[in-house]
Amino acid sequence: MWNLLEIRRRYDLRIYLFIVVVFSLLLLLLGRMVQLQWIQYKKHFTQSEDNRIHISPVYPTRGVMLDRNGLGLAVNEVSYKVTLIPERVENLDETLAALQTLMGWDDQKISKLKKQIKKTRADRASLLMDQLPWEAVAPLAARLHHFSGVDVVAGTHRYYPDAEQTSHVVGYLSLVRDVDIKEGYLHMEYVGRSGLERILESRLHGELGYKHEEVDAKGRRVALLKTVAPKMGENVQLSIDAALQKIASKALGKRTGAVVVMDVHTGEVLVLLSKPGYDTNKFITGLDTVQWNEWLNNIEKPLLNRVTQAAYPPGSTIKMATSFAGLAKGVALANGSTQCEGYVELADRKIRCWKKEGHGKVDLHDALVHSCDVFYYELGDALGMGALSSEARRWGFGEKTGINLPPESRGILPKERPSERRKKWYRGETMITAIGQGEITVTPLQMARFAAAIANGGLILRPLLEKGEPTDVVKKLDVPEEHLQKIKQGMRDVVASQTGTAYYALSRAHWTVAGKTGTAQVVMMADDEERTFSDARKHQDHAWFMGYAPFEKPEIAFAVFVEHGGHGGSSAAPVARAVVDAWADKQEAVN
Ligand SMILES: [Zn+2]
Repeated sequence: MWNLLEIRRRYDLRIYLFIVVVFSLLLLLLGRMVQLQWIQYKKHFTQSEDNRIHISPVYPTRGVMLDRNGLGLAVNEVSYKVTLIPERVENLDETLAALQTLMGWDDQKISKLKKQIKKTRADRASLLMDQLPWEAVAPLAARLHHFSGVDVVAGTHRYYPDAEQTSHVVGYLSLVRDVDIKEGYLHMEYVGRSGLERILESRLHGELGYKHEEVDAKGRRVALLKTVAPKMGENVQLSIDAALQKIASKALGKRTGAVVVMDVHTGEVLVLLSKPGYDTNKFITGLDTVQWNEWLNNIEKPLLNRVTQAAYPPGSTIKMATSFAGLAKGVALANGSTQCEGYVELADRKIRCWKKEGHGKVDLHDALVHSCDVFYYELGDALGMGALSSEARRWGFGEKTGINLPPESRGILPKERPSERRKKWYRGETMITAIGQGEITVTPLQMARFAAAIANGGLILRPLLEKGEPTDVVKKLDVPEEHLQKIKQGMRDVVASQTGTAYYALSRAHWTVAGKTGTAQVVMMADDEERTFSDARKHQDHAWFMGYAPFEKPEIAFAVFVEHGGHGGSSAAPVARAVVDAWADKQEAVN
C-alpha cells in the first residue's frame, strides 16, 4: 500500500527532477546567449562597422609655382594611381597575377610589389602604380569589381616644364620616407626636398581632406557617405622670368656656369640660372640609384647651385670695390695716375699685369676700362688688406645675401691677419687681393647684387624670389655721388670705349650697358713660375661679366660667370648681351 507520505515523496522528487531539467536547459540557453551576445559581441560589432564605413584621406592639390608672367614652373598634371589594401584582398597571388595580365607588368615588377606589400600595414593602401594616364588605367577601372581591395585613384602629379633650367631655384619633390611619416605625412604623399619646393613646403602643401565610404564585407565601395574637402596649397608667383631664364641658358649653352639678373630697385631676381641643371621630373617618377650617383659624382656637379652655393675668385670685377676704397680713403693714386710697364717689382719677383707690354700712363678711369692690374696692385698696396677687405664687406661680400634659398655660401674675405702665427699679410698677398685673386671668393649672386648697388646708388638689397614681395634694403651705403659717377663712367666705357674690354660683346647691345669683365685665374702664377700643368679645362681661368643697364636709367643688374670659361670679355660678356637684348626688346614692346 502506498501511504500518503510515500506518494507525497515521489511527487516531490518528480517536481525536483523537472526543475533540474528545466534549469539545465535554461542555463544552456543562457550560456549560448552569453557566448553570442557577450563574448563574440566585440568581433561581430567591429566587423559590421568595418563593413559599413571606411575612412580614407583625400590628398590636397599642391600649390603651383608660376613665373612672373604666369607661366608654369612647377605645375600639377592629372594622373591616376593604382592602390591595393592588403587585408581586403582575398588571394594576393591571384590578384597580382590577374593585374599582371591586365596591365602588362613584368615579373620583376610583380616581385618588387610583393616585397612592398609585405612591408605595408594590412589596412593601409599600398601604391602599385603612379602617374598613369587615363588610357592606361581604363581597362582596370572597368573591371574593378573583380579586384577586391584594388582601387584606381584620380589625382595629380608634379611636373616641371623647364626642369633642367629651373632645377636650382624651383627644386623638386619626392615620395614620403619613413622619417616624414613620423612627422605626420601620410603614405603616398610627396614632400619638397630642395629649392623652393622644400623652403615653401608648408605653404604649397595644402590640407588633407577625408572621405567616409560605405563598403561591403569584401571591401567594395557601396556608397559615399561624407567628404571633408581637402584645402589646396597656396599658388606662388615667383619673380623669375622663365623666358629670360631660357635665353640665358641658351646663351650659356653647354658650358658650366651661372647667370643672375636682378631688378636694381626692388631686388627681385629675374634670372637665377646654374648650369648644368638636372631633370627634376625624374624625382617624381622615382629616381633610380644609378641616375642619382651619376649626378652626385659628375665632375660638373649638376646638383650644386652655383648662383648661391659656390664661391669663386672675383678677378677684376672686384676692382670697383678697390676703387671705392681708394676714393673713400683719399689715396693719392685714386685721383692721380701711374705708369704700367707690364709688371710691378716686389723684392726679387715681378707681379705681372695681364698686358705684358704694359698700359703706359693710367688713371683710375683707364685702369677700369682696360682692366690694368698694375694700377690696382699699387692702389691695393697703398690701402692695405684691412681697408680692401672692409670695403668689400660694405658692398655685401663675405656675408649671405639673405635670399630665401638656403643653404647659401658667404664667400671668403681676407681677415685682419693671415693666421695665428703670422701678424701681417705680405705685400704681394694684398696686391693680388686688390685684383680679386688670393684670399677672396664671392658668389655670382653677391656679384649681381654688387652691380645693382652701384646702379642704384648704394642700396644693398636682399634678393627676392617672389613677385611683388616688399623690397628689403639690407643697408644703405653712404657713397659720395662724385665717387659713384667716376666708377659708373669707367664701367660704361668698358663697353662704350673702342679699347674697353667688353666693347666687342656689348657696344651694340639694345640698351646702353655699363659693366666690368673679370678673368679669374684658377692658379695664380708669378713671373718665375712655369705653366707646369696641362691645358686641361680645369686649369683654364674663370670668366666673369657683371654690370647693369640701361646706363642712364638703370633697371636691371646682372652677373654672368663661366667656370673655366677663359676671358670675361669673350666668354661671359656675350651671355650678358643676349640677356640685355631680350629684356630691352621686351620692355620696348610693352612701352
Ligand atoms: Zn696694366
